Amino acid sequence: MSRESNLKGQSFGFLRVEEKMPYQEDRYNVWRCHCTNCGREAFVNTKRLKRGTVTNCGCIPKTTARNGPSAEDLTGRVFGGLKALYRMQNHRNGRTQWMCECACERRIAVLARDLKSGYTKSCGCSKMNNPS
Ligand SMILES: [Zn+2]
Ligand SMILES: [Zn+2]
Repeated sequence: MSRESNLKGQSFGFLRVEEKMPYQEDRYNVWRCHCTNCGREAFVNTKRLKRGTVTNCGCIPKTTARNGPSAEDLTGRVFGGLKALYRMQNHRNGRTQWMCECACERRIAVLARDLKSGYTKSCGCSKMNNPS
């Protein structure tokens, strides 16, 4: 039986399916995907794509219970001139970090704590850095 679903062109989370690979994994087709979050490639099989097990190339850490209550989802939230894009690996000290985009379009990593407290409101450019 070669009943195969063609996933080409479909999107699963941040992954956009580009093409089918000539090999299989666990009897599922493997697809070359483009991670729209970071631009890298990922190779994911049909099962994992369809189940939503994998939604990016690995650049976005899964939010697990391990991260505790501080792992609040700030995606899309705006703090001054910064917009939270996605969560990053925890900082060395275990604190949650977010990749943010500044009003000037520069991207910087900011600790969640500093975002929420209003301590960090921009990448350091003058645009929004107006502590009152
Ligand atoms: Zn990625
Ligand atoms: Zn800036």
